[in-house]
Amino acid sequence: MTDIVDSRKVSVMRDVVTGQFFFSVRGQNHGDSDVYTCSFHHCSCPAFHKQVTQSKQSIYCKHQLAARIAISLNKLKIEELQQNQWKEMLNKQAKQMPVPFKQKNG
Ligand SMILES: [Zn+2]
Repeated sequence: MTDIVDSRKVSVMRDVVTGQFFFSVRGQNHGDSDVYTCSFHHCSCPAFHKQVTQSKQSIYCKHQLAARIAISLNKLKIEELQQNQWKEMLNKQAKQMPVPFKQKNG
């Protein structure tokens, strides 16, 4: 758990205009491509989908915990996104996310 935090794998992507943010947490197993997008309520990883959404065995996945720990330890890397970058990111993430994470269009 803490190894995710200690190697500074948690970033905050923040929209400079609205101040909205989400966490980008790099996984441990599959290199740089294994990056999940979390908020306090959702994560794009398969474990969240299985253990939290479906079976309700857990309240959080390890990425969400890592994000919370990173906040409390002040070990976050903050990346400011311009509006167009933010939209691109959301579009990209929406495709990767399982159904419960999809935002309603509107
Ligand atoms: Zn996760």
